[in-house]
Amino acid sequence: MTECAKCGACSVVCPVFRISGREGHTARGRLHLRETVELAPHSAQYEELFSACLLCGACAAVCPRGIDIRAAIIEARAGFSAVYGQGGYQKFLARKALAHPGLLAALGGLGRGVAAGLDPFLSDRSGLRLRLALFEDSEKVQGNKALAQTVSPGTELSESGLTEMAYFPGCVTHALWPHIADSCATLVAQYNLALTIPDGLVCCGLAAHAAGDRSEARALACRNLQVLERTDGPILVSCASCYAHLHDYPKLLAEEPDWHERALQMVERLRELTTFLMQQAQLESPVLPVPRPRRRVFYHDPCHFRHQLHITAPPRELIRSCPGLELVEPEDEPGCCGMGGLFHLGEPELSGAILEQLLDRVLPLEPEVITSTCSGCLMQWRMAVAAAGLKIPVVHLAALLAEEAGLCEKVGSGSRG
Ligand code: SF4
Ligand code: SF4
Repeated sequence: MTECAKCGACSVVCPVFRISGREGHTARGRLHLRETVELAPHSAQYEELFSACLLCGACAAVCPRGIDIRAAIIEARAGFSAVYGQGGYQKFLARKALAHPGLLAALGGLGRGVAAGLDPFLSDRSGLRLRLALFEDSEKVQGNKALAQTVSPGTELSESGLTEMAYFPGCVTHALWPHIADSCATLVAQYNLALTIPDGLVCCGLAAHAAGDRSEARALACRNLQVLERTDGPILVSCASCYAHLHDYPKLLAEEPDWHERALQMVERLRELTTFLMQQAQLESPVLPVPRPRRRVFYHDPCHFRHQLHITAPPRELIRSCPGLELVEPEDEPGCCGMGGLFHLGEPELSGAILEQLLDRVLPLEPEVITSTCSGCLMQWRMAVAAAGLKIPVVHLAALLAEEAGLCEKVGSGSRG
């Protein structure tokens, strides 16, 4: 039995319950169902209720009993078939693509080609255009080759005078938006650091873990640990979701003492991009930002950072430190974007309704740029902006900061490039 007090605090903050109003969509409801599942084990409806969770962690953050609700939901999913819930096959295929870097890179290249080729022929509100918005490299940072120089085989890092630092790019940066890596490299070069992407890294495994696929999540984690162990020093991570999941490797490998210990050692070396930049800025004098006309910026908190790791101040501090940017925020907490990893594939209506609520709070602020550090949130925002027919650039914070510091060319003029 869980220690759930049935207080309902989790219901108030649950983005899914706020839309559906169904008790079965709350943490309380799901925990109760887990205890009474003997009545209808693994029925399609039961699996559906556990599938319709973003794993955003908002419930756990307010739970007075400190229940690890995400873990309980993932545990339940581990007992389902590989294609459980609505959109089960789509989610399964997406997870398989993420687990195979070559396939993902090929899909990214194909998508970019299709996006460029079809652009003149699609209407602004075409559903296909909204999907293809993901592939448009509107954040492309031309002339910014710092990372490319550091990862070219045979590069003499010692000659450049820079200290090498390992970088975990994550699937989206690797396959879809490589300019994020370039921007990160440019930012850390201010502190005499050169990023290198260790050969052989794979997906962090968050999608497999969230689906309850323990074996795949474990295999990806162990692979990454082996690769990262071949490097020394800090490991920079620029994607919030990847960072949160890498941070969870010791928990994931808790039952294997050797791997658990190796994961603990790796976590000690992790550096989250914005926290790292803030620390560096306090230690040394960065290149002075180039003054530009102030632009209104909305920063979207990834749920992993807001509810799990409480990394909310550094990104805001970095934005406020740029003379060319003005941080705009709604009075109340804006909340989840509805992406939830692969949640949006299985629950497009719920995902869309959660996103609509967010847009209602953010668009009246008239942001001129929307930024975040989570690849999933950026994808959701790109599609939202395209769907609304707006031209607001949606960019990773690294690209925005690099541009503001005068270290690269201007980021895209709109989500469609
Ligand atoms: S993790 Fe998020 S979506 Fe899932 S039950 Fe908790 S608050 Fe609701
Ligand atoms: S907040 Fe925690 S204790 Fe309260 S109902 Fe939800 S899960 Fe149970």
